[in-house]
Amino acid sequence: MSSHLGVRVRFTLLYSIALILTVTMVSSGIYFFVQRALLDQIENHLHKDQATISTYLKSDPNQLAYMSERGTIHLFSVMQGSKKLVASRHWHDEKLDETQIDGQQQDRPFSIKTANGARYRILIQPVTINTQNYQITVAHNEDAVHQTLRTLALIILLILPLAVAISLGIGYFIAGRVLAPIEVITRKAQEIGAENLSERLPVGDEDNEFSRLAVVFNQTFARIEDSFVRLHRFTADASHELRTPLAAIRSIGETALHTPSEKNTDCREICRESIGSILEESDRLRQLIDSLLQLSRADAGEISLHKETVDLFDLAKETVELLNVLAEEKRQSINISTIGKAMASIDRTSVRQALTNLLDNAIKYAPAESEINITVGSTTSGESFIEIADRGCGIPDEDIKLIFDRFYRVDKGRSREKGGAGLGLSISKWAVERNGGRIVVASTINQGSQFRVSFPW
Ligand code: ADP
Repeated sequence: MSSHLGVRVRFTLLYSIALILTVTMVSSGIYFFVQRALLDQIENHLHKDQATISTYLKSDPNQLAYMSERGTIHLFSVMQGSKKLVASRHWHDEKLDETQIDGQQQDRPFSIKTANGARYRILIQPVTINTQNYQITVAHNEDAVHQTLRTLALIILLILPLAVAISLGIGYFIAGRVLAPIEVITRKAQEIGAENLSERLPVGDEDNEFSRLAVVFNQTFARIEDSFVRLHRFTADASHELRTPLAAIRSIGETALHTPSEKNTDCREICRESIGSILEESDRLRQLIDSLLQLSRADAGEISLHKETVDLFDLAKETVELLNVLAEEKRQSINISTIGKAMASIDRTSVRQALTNLLDNAIKYAPAESEINITVGSTTSGESFIEIADRGCGIPDEDIKLIFDRFYRVDKGRSREKGGAGLGLSISKWAVERNGGRIVVASTINQGSQFRVSFPW
């Protein structure tokens, strides 16, 4: 069926085709059943008449002439060899004499048409009595049967188109009612755009295919809305974070420009200080842009992993070597201990990045001269892990579930001073989870935090 037809029309047409086929089959069934029943009735008569004649022929052949006169059996003839023995009065009247009957099949009823157009059901039966061969032929007018069948056919032919027309109407109406929720869903879905993503499709009271469809669409809209909101927030947060170092660079520059003329201080010293600060700020800017780039590449699925078997102890050592300078600046000591072999099938680069962020945080948020303990090991359940524990300020309970969100900082002012934009942990979480692992945090205020990264092995 061509695709431009609406579901409603297609549904109605299919329904009507099915109905026409059913009605035609049922009507033909009724027609043939009635035809058979009426013919059976006639044939029963014929058999009975034929049996009666046969009985008389054996016992009292003279009675046959009497029967023919009285018309007890309406239509019959008896032949003896090729000679006609007797025939009923009506046999002659109805011109059956003149009709070619001989030579037709015997013992099985059949139909013929006489010269005057009447139809008869005929039964021919040969009988042998006392070595004499007879042929009994009985007949019954069939016109009433044909009349009944014609009336029946007429009724069927009148009713069939009427039934089809009514069913088309009803089908179209029902299809319209059934598909009405789709119309409502379509109209509402068309109205929902980027500016009103919080709106939802109406979900009917009944639990049916349409309400389930609306629920699924609503879930999709909710996910799209969530992504939109997050994208919005991400863009706003990113712009805000980028503005801060830029504003700092600008104000350092302005101060440097104006100071010599105002205060007449040594220009070279001021330039050196200002350039140092500008370099610091631009380094922060570079780090931030790197993180943003990494997150957007991660979101776009552009970062491919090269998994290999890695000894987590070696990886922990590599990370410590990278950040030891920062710890030394704060006179912190980093201790690595191991409790059993810890192997994992991971992408070395991305997991090292995750660990670097965690260790960097530990160094940043722990006080000077404190200890940072790294434990590497494996659990009885077959997980390999690295745990980084610091003796820092800790993280409040209400913030723990939010620290992995992008741009989330527990103490906004303080952590910016330390150079963080709130992206480190979200990058760590992404990297660990992409490698099939997970990060768990335990923290006590003013006592310290432990970040445990584990991978199945
Ligand atoms: P940032 O770049 O600001 O450090 P992160 O995503 O790495 O961003 O961390 C998010 C926030 O979680 C930080 O701002 C800080 O408030 C808190 N946090 C992370 N690690 C620690 C830690 N070891 N001790 C205390 N607070 C932490």
